[in-house]
Amino acid sequence: MICLSLTRPTLDQDLTDLVAERPYIDAAELRADLLDPCELTSVAGFARRVRSNAALGQLPLILTVRRAADGGGWDGTERDRRVLLADAVRDYTFVDLEDDLFADGSAASIAADFSGRVIRSQHYFDGIPADPTAELRRMGRDGAIAKLAAMPRSVADLLALVRAARSTTEIDRIVVGMGEHGFPTRVLARQLGTYVSFVSTGDRQAAPGHCTPRDLAELYRYHEVSRDAAVFAVIGNPVMHSQSPHYHNRVFAQRKLNAVYVPIHVDHVDALFELADELPISGFSVTIPHKQAVIAHLCQVDPAVRALGACNTVVREGNRWVGSNTDVEGFWRPLAARLGRRADGDQRALVIGAGGAARAVVYALAREGFSVVVANRTVSRAQALVDDLSSGEVAHADLHAVALADLPTALGGIPGWGAGSPAVIVQSTSVGMHGNGDPVPLDFDGSEIVYDLVYTPPETPLIKRARAAGCITISGVEMFETQAQLQSERYCAAVP
Ligand code: NAP
Repeated sequence: MICLSLTRPTLDQDLTDLVAERPYIDAAELRADLLDPCELTSVAGFARRVRSNAALGQLPLILTVRRAADGGGWDGTERDRRVLLADAVRDYTFVDLEDDLFADGSAASIAADFSGRVIRSQHYFDGIPADPTAELRRMGRDGAIAKLAAMPRSVADLLALVRAARSTTEIDRIVVGMGEHGFPTRVLARQLGTYVSFVSTGDRQAAPGHCTPRDLAELYRYHEVSRDAAVFAVIGNPVMHSQSPHYHNRVFAQRKLNAVYVPIHVDHVDALFELADELPISGFSVTIPHKQAVIAHLCQVDPAVRALGACNTVVREGNRWVGSNTDVEGFWRPLAARLGRRADGDQRALVIGAGGAARAVVYALAREGFSVVVANRTVSRAQALVDDLSSGEVAHADLHAVALADLPTALGGIPGWGAGSPAVIVQSTSVGMHGNGDPVPLDFDGSEIVYDLVYTPPETPLIKRARAAGCITISGVEMFETQAQLQSERYCAAVP
């Protein structure tokens, strides 16, 4: 179930949220600890208001009054909290009671007149318990729904939570990984067999890592994919900004595939491969800083991975992991489609920047027979890139490194580069992101193809200037979508 945490200061506002989010949710949790104190006398009545609202139907409701020590907002006395719970509980479907209330019989007296189900919860805001599986079993053994909310600090912690969720099928359980590391437990709640996934409205995050009801329902297709759906991921650090879940989940939806794609914040790739076996994961995209580290775990790689020492796409084939690099073709195909229009045969390409993206760009251009000048702010990095590629598969290529600050003068000193603008200019630095800056210190005569790898925004200052000069322009959006499309073909083929 997708369960909306109601976190407003008034019950009227909570009701408004509930009606607005109803299309996406299956249950709601009233966080009474976050209400204005003057609202507390109406907590029981709130459940009746919800039930009598035709738009809300028989929506299951959880009553929660979370103490500050457990991450809540209750600042009254413990005695008043228990009185509130006991008075209001009978109108709710579930009540959330903290684990320690079960030791002295307090939970039994709060829930004495309650015919719904009790959620027995434990919260760890700094890491995970030593044995999450044992904790879940202990809390669930008397028929309560066992809820463990913990803050994983690594993929290894996430793996422990996933194992706990999957190995406790004999009890009803809720396993919540908070924060970025825990995010997959929210999206994959059904695959983990956990009872609910909690969500918040966009402007009021009830707990670290909540996503919105709409994202969980529509982007991650919570209700459409089954418990045995194929799981795909993007791994990185950071990773939550990635646009890849939007692209790949949209393709899965269009093709009606029983598959879901989730961001996983990865600190160490060794633990990631263990997690990939446990979930299991059928394939994943790799972003910074893991493009090199994953290679040691792969049984087979394509020539681009071998040449660049960087892999951005991994799929499971039987019991083997196979890696490829779609950045190279993702860059090359949009450019190749434009090159056909040039008749002069100029094979000179200037690449601004010498980071990870530039490696794929220079490799593709060298492979296709271009003479390439790499101009970077830090010239030693440009030289290292040229030296690396000059000793591999494209050793035959004509590659040069110059300092960005020396452009355009430096081009005149390179044999064959004296006259006129190069045919292709590729901007591969991060300058231009968020619409600021243009790092290319050249005037255009309109004959150039200008390719900016930056894709947010699609129209960078460089693209605007080049178009105004009459150049053919290519936005980073095209590279992003082409490499994602190539990944997508591999992922769709890997859905069992
Ligand atoms: P990276 O490895 O961190 O490299 C960053 C590059 O930008 C380096 O060459 C760096 O120069 C240069 N740079 C940064 N700030 C600069 C400044 N103020 N002036 C001049 N140069 C500057 O990053 P990356 O992975 O190569 O990514 C670079 C860009 O490409 C990003 O905007 C990324 O979003 C984009 N990209 C797009 C796609 C796509 O599909 N369209 C794919 C990959 C990357 P120094 O070496 O001197 O620091």
